[in-house]
Amino acid sequence: MLSVTFLGTSAARPTVERNVSALALVREGETLLFECGEGTQRQMMRYGVSFALSDIFFTHFHADHFLGVIGLIRTLGLQGRAEPMRLYGPRGAKKLLGQAMQLGVERVPFPIEIQEVKPGMTIGERGKGNREGYDIHVFATEHGGGSVGYAIREHERLGRFDPDKARAAGIPEGPLWGKLHKGEPIELADGRKLTADGFVGPRRPGRLVVFTGDTRPCAAVVDAAKGADLLIHEATFGEEEKDRAKETGHSTAREAAQVALAANAKRLVLSHVSARYSISADELVKEAREVFKETVVAKDGMEVDVPFAD
Ligand SMILES: [Zn+2]
Ligand SMILES: [Zn+2]
Repeated sequence: MLSVTFLGTSAARPTVERNVSALALVREGETLLFECGEGTQRQMMRYGVSFALSDIFFTHFHADHFLGVIGLIRTLGLQGRAEPMRLYGPRGAKKLLGQAMQLGVERVPFPIEIQEVKPGMTIGERGKGNREGYDIHVFATEHGGGSVGYAIREHERLGRFDPDKARAAGIPEGPLWGKLHKGEPIELADGRKLTADGFVGPRRPGRLVVFTGDTRPCAAVVDAAKGADLLIHEATFGEEEKDRAKETGHSTAREAAQVALAANAKRLVLSHVSARYSISADELVKEAREVFKETVVAKDGMEVDVPFAD
């Protein structure tokens, strides 16, 4: 299972309808948090996101993306957490998050590990860290201050095993099937030696979820989102404010849609919308869909499942 829950979808400040940025990704029972705007812990309670998480990723350090981590860490401390918490962010993360961790508490009663990331880096490469079955790639975005985005890419899966062919070849159901499925050669009781050829299909791709954080539309995002199952792109403004989007390092809904189209993504979810679209973002949806049909605008509490393509 892989799903994403939008905890905050408003740009710059909260509104009655929308909180500031945060997103929970849940994969095989593991929760990853991306951004942690003010009030995120309450949004997690509201929308049923587990506090048992160990990783928080920040795209940049504008206040609407990280102030909530101070209160969240405090609450986790009160709950008696002992496990380490890992925080990831671009240049400046160590200093800024280090200071934030000391704010308002005597001491945090569990270890905090802060890792600075930069474009091109892979977090949790195979065999490193404790990530099982996926990596997180860091890519550059255009929002100033070394801002980055994150691409969560699952490893390839085994090809499809064909039980009918295995039976027809007289291979008994059981551990030998498992071995073949993993691509290992087997030897039958009658002495025949077989390889996986013909019994197992080609390896199948895993899923790719890409989260941009705040950014202008840019080539680095297109590259990172090539063939993405789900692209989560900011769309702070509509077309009528496209100059403002450019001046402030943000994207319009249409620009985000152009990125999704260029990347050949399967689905696009827009988030980080300006307060003027807080109640209705229909205009943003309309402008984006003219370019890329599979677009929705996120709402707080919205959950998006990401199924395998095959
Ligand atoms: Zn922002
Ligand atoms: Zn920003």
